[in-house]
Amino acid sequence: MTWTCDSCGQPIYNIQDGWVEWLTRMGPNGESLYSHSMRLVHHMPSSPQRGGCQYDGHRTYAVSKDLNSDLDLEFFASPDGLTDLLQKLSDNEFHNQEELIEMIKRLHLPNYEEARLYLTEAVAQGVFEPNSKPGYPHQGQLLAVRRWTGI
Ligand SMILES: [Zn+2]
Repeated sequence: MTWTCDSCGQPIYNIQDGWVEWLTRMGPNGESLYSHSMRLVHHMPSSPQRGGCQYDGHRTYAVSKDLNSDLDLEFFASPDGLTDLLQKLSDNEFHNQEELIEMIKRLHLPNYEEARLYLTEAVAQGVFEPNSKPGYPHQGQLLAVRRWTGI
C-alpha cells in the first residue's frame, strides 16, 4: 500500500515514512477553537528532505497563531487510530468535518487512497456510474477506477 503526500504530491512508500498533521486555531485567551487543514505528508528523519513536507510549526504560529499537532501514520492507520479520528468527529473538533472524513476514508477504506484522485475523471470518462454522493464510492467502483488507471 502506498499513500500520496499532500505536500509534495509524491508517493509515501512505507507506513513509517507517513505523518498525519493538522492545525488548531487558538482563541484570544489561548483556548483551542477548532482544528483544520489535516494532511498526510512525508516524515523521513533519515532522509535529506527531513521534515520538508511537514508544517513548519514556528512559521504557522508566526503567521496565524495556529498550533500544529501530529502523529505517525502507523498509529492513525491502526484500529486505535481510527477510534481517535472517530472521537474527533464525535467532538466536532474540525471546522470542516469533511476533511476529517476524507482522512478516515484514505486510511481505512480499501482502495480509496489509490483511486480517490481519479474519481471525477473516471466518472467523466464513464468508468463507473455514480449512485452515491460524490466522494463516497463503493468497493466495486474503486476497483474499476484502479483497473482503469492501472494503479
Ligand atoms: Zn512529501
